[in-house]
Amino acid sequence: MKKLVVLTGAGMSAESGIRTFRDSNGLWEEYDVMEVASIEGWHKNPELMLRFYNERRKQMFSCQPNKGHLLLAALEKEFEVCIITQNIDNLHEQAGSTKVVHLHGELSKARSSADPTLIYAIGNRDILMGEKCAKGSQLRPFIVWFGEEVPAMAEAVPLVESADILCIIGTSLNVYPAAGLLHYAPNGCPVFLIDPNPPKDLPRRIQVIAKGAGEGVEELANKLIILI
Ligand code: NAD
Repeated sequence: MKKLVVLTGAGMSAESGIRTFRDSNGLWEEYDVMEVASIEGWHKNPELMLRFYNERRKQMFSCQPNKGHLLLAALEKEFEVCIITQNIDNLHEQAGSTKVVHLHGELSKARSSADPTLIYAIGNRDILMGEKCAKGSQLRPFIVWFGEEVPAMAEAVPLVESADILCIIGTSLNVYPAAGLLHYAPNGCPVFLIDPNPPKDLPRRIQVIAKGAGEGVEELANKLIILI
């Protein structure tokens, strides 16, 4: 089977009702991004951060995977599909995708604020102020914030390097190091990008499908038939 590597961003979940950054003028659900998505924000106001991610978690559990998520999961019949997502929702998993790397963490997990390797599955429940990890430090969302390392890049880079086909869906390619992943695609590897409003100045090798995730993945699947 050929390896289809898919890099997804916030636009992948837009048709499930979760807003992207770009559609909100750089705000994340009305909040200043640096207030709710940076390590400085956590040190300044952990209560606000916990409240914000508790809301995002509730929202995620009220949403369903969309047609794009479902079609990507169905492509596992013909391809070895590896998804690398910047999203912190679990809609790819809900749709049935079996290999998903989360670059920026997951809402359904909590971690120790002192030890990044102490991670707990919490499902759909809030993280409360005063709730401690086994080592006695405050629990925090298992999210990679601006100003923090992205450990999952170590897993993502070899996946892209070994891709037979790469597809990028619903990301403005503004957030690094995730945006740099496309440059690891091997020479000759076809690269597709699905986005109704594609980023400007893309490398010429990228074949753009200027559609939303649902219709776009349908078109991609039709194009891929000849590559099976
Ligand atoms: P972004 O908001 O910067 O860009 C979103 C992209 O999606 C844009 O290019 C937009 O044109 C495109 N888009 C909009 N509607 C679409 C649709 N229906 N189908 C396909 N594409 C569509 O998002 P980003 O590049 O992922 O960077 C934002 C960061 O914010 C990421 O790190 C991510 O972790 C985080 N974030 C995550 C979620 C989530 O988990 N669902 C939601 C918002 C933000």
